[in-house]
Amino acid sequence: MRPRAVLALALGLALFLSGCGDPGKTPSQASGPPAATATPKPTHRPHPTRTRPKPTLRPLPKTLPAGLRRSSGDRGVVLTFDDGPDPRWTPQVLDQLRAAHVTATFCLIGRQARRYPQLVARIVREGHQLCNHSWRHDLNLGRRPVADIRADLLRTNQAIRAAVPRARIAWFRQPGGRWTPEEVAVARQLGMRSLHWSVDPQDWDHPTAATIIKRVESAGRPGSIVLMHDGGGDRSQTMAACRHLIPDLNRRFRISRLR
Ligand SMILES: [Zn+2]
Repeated sequence: MRPRAVLALALGLALFLSGCGDPGKTPSQASGPPAATATPKPTHRPHPTRTRPKPTLRPLPKTLPAGLRRSSGDRGVVLTFDDGPDPRWTPQVLDQLRAAHVTATFCLIGRQARRYPQLVARIVREGHQLCNHSWRHDLNLGRRPVADIRADLLRTNQAIRAAVPRARIAWFRQPGGRWTPEEVAVARQLGMRSLHWSVDPQDWDHPTAATIIKRVESAGRPGSIVLMHDGGGDRSQTMAACRHLIPDLNRRFRISRLR
């Protein structure tokens, strides 16, 4: 009887100790909701230091949604310049386009437009088309609540129109091409068509001018929409490439306007 009693006591003591818990071992449960009721799986509340509101992001579709513009609409080639306006690069592109007597579409970031209204004014004055490229180049904008998408697009248009009050902003382009159907619908409600592209030389990744030229020349065909950048980093190679590409594309295909 006696050894059994000792065993029972030892077992009881062990259960007591483990029941008291070892807070260091299970931090998620310790910091979770009160464990009064059975909660087999600890709930993962967002950590205070995590800033991304991950639960509100809808998934990105596997394929591009319907309703995107992916060709110029005629036999000509359309040039688009994203991520400006930028005081260093945008004037260089504008000078080149003016010298070639052609126009392009500029996809403007809202806060850049607010910062450089005189560049927005020059873009419009020289006959180029405007495209909303979101307020701060939010790659996940299309995945956010519809009200957030709408507010972002409106804020960006307001910044553009603060520079050019009656500016026509016919196009919207989601940063990174990470489109969702919801976003295409919001843009349409705000009077903007969704502008994708068909030729992407990936100039944002800083290839040489020769590589940018080669990529555009080999992929370009009648009706292409070419994506390049006049902001968001060192665009010297894009500028150098454009000195060849603008006259050459204009001679081969004619550089045209979106309609
Ligand atoms: Zn962009």
